Amino acid sequence: MNLKTKIREIQDFPTKGISFKDITTLLKEKEAFVCVVDNIVEEFKTKNITKVLGIESRGFIFGGALAKELGAGFVPVRKKGKLPAETIAESYELEYGVDTIEMHKDALSSDDVVLIHDDLLATGGTANAVFNIVKKAGVKEVYFSFVCDLEFIQTPEKSNIYKLNPHILVK
Ligand code: AMP
Repeated sequence: MNLKTKIREIQDFPTKGISFKDITTLLKEKEAFVCVVDNIVEEFKTKNITKVLGIESRGFIFGGALAKELGAGFVPVRKKGKLPAETIAESYELEYGVDTIEMHKDALSSDDVVLIHDDLLATGGTANAVFNIVKKAGVKEVYFSFVCDLEFIQTPEKSNIYKLNPHILVK
């Protein structure tokens, strides 16, 4: 299936100059939804993944399905102030300002094999911050999957993610 054609592009959303990749058009088609889940499961089914980390908010959608199919637990990584218990936090630069994401301190243990999942890789700033959180937690192994990569954006943070050999469905 050509998944690229299932993702709708909205120009100038949420601000002027941004071409927004809207995955809701992919999600609502059951064959496309299953195609994404099956593709990622096929890639990681032999890796003994114990936790899938979904990045707020669109990383939660496939994250839960992937955790179920891979026989793993699910861990939400959320924007600052949303998680109720003690957290590990990491801040990262945006074009204007700084953002912070958090994960519960007790979410991972040293024998976990982690799959970090998000819908889209743009600058890589978010994914890199999540990687730093997971490093602080200390786990056995870390993998990445993204539905989509905006290849025309290249940054040092994204180079870090590429070195970790992420699984990407749509480029
Ligand atoms: P980044 O940290 O720049 O890699 O941004 C990744 C996060 O922002 C992901 O969680 C995406 O959902 C969202 N995002 C960034 N740019 C876009 C875009 N052009 N279309 C849709 N989502 C985007």
